Amino acid sequence: MTKQGFFTRLFKRLCLLIGIVIFASTLAACKEQQEPDPENIVERTSKKILTGTIYETEVYYFKSNLPGPKVVIVGGIHGDEIAGWMVADALVERKDFKGEIMIIPRANILATQLEQRYPGSTNNGMYNNVKYTDLNREFPGKADGTVTERIAYAIVEVVTEFSPTYLIDLHESKRSYSDPSPLLGDEIIYGNKKGAMLALEMVEDFNDTLDPSDTPFITDANPPEGSFNHYFGKTYDAITFTFETNRQLGLAKRMKQQNDLLNIFFQKIWN
Ligand SMILES: [Zn+2]
Repeated sequence: MTKQGFFTRLFKRLCLLIGIVIFASTLAACKEQQEPDPENIVERTSKKILTGTIYETEVYYFKSNLPGPKVVIVGGIHGDEIAGWMVADALVERKDFKGEIMIIPRANILATQLEQRYPGSTNNGMYNNVKYTDLNREFPGKADGTVTERIAYAIVEVVTEFSPTYLIDLHESKRSYSDPSPLLGDEIIYGNKKGAMLALEMVEDFNDTLDPSDTPFITDANPPEGSFNHYFGKTYDAITFTFETNRQLGLAKRMKQQNDLLNIFFQKIWN
């Protein structure tokens, strides 16, 4: 190699390096623009439901001075679907909500502590000599019913009082719909036809973010009877979605998917 050739290469590499630095700083600047809008003043409050019981759980309220619909987001109805409630836990630290948002990160708090579908779900529903059932088959619950029915009732009461237009319930499934023994993973379930189009749009946008090896999400019109989605979609007649990530995937990936789905939802309703 001639000395001149060496300097030409060095010069080219320097140019490339400078180009990369400029590109990275432009990216960083763009990211900064996505930081909370100073015009968006969000007030956060919270209260507890089921107070004085081992099922006591926190409900967070966010009210922005910028317009947006009323949205409820629930995690932890099933305690072993941890990506859902971990994302809901982190969500209460967000500062960029618009409109009014209510979040119950750990609806079935004892189940989340035990990391079981419901307390005692691995022991015929028996935990500490109390009989539990699947919370997501007991909605709308009963004020004077079983322990599980009372938890469902308290959640319905606080959600109904808030009067939301949209509700999102964060879940996970043991397997994908595409598995040889299919379950509900990799799906957005919607509660009634008012949510059908938005569910389809969210799935389309979300699938664009996936790697070619990932299973694309699909929509599903059939929330199980007694589920949060079924009650608020069919009886209460709001627009309801259940996000179902696939527990065959790693936790970080599932949490990213839950967050990406939420961000796509917010983009749709805030624009
Ligand atoms: Zn679930």
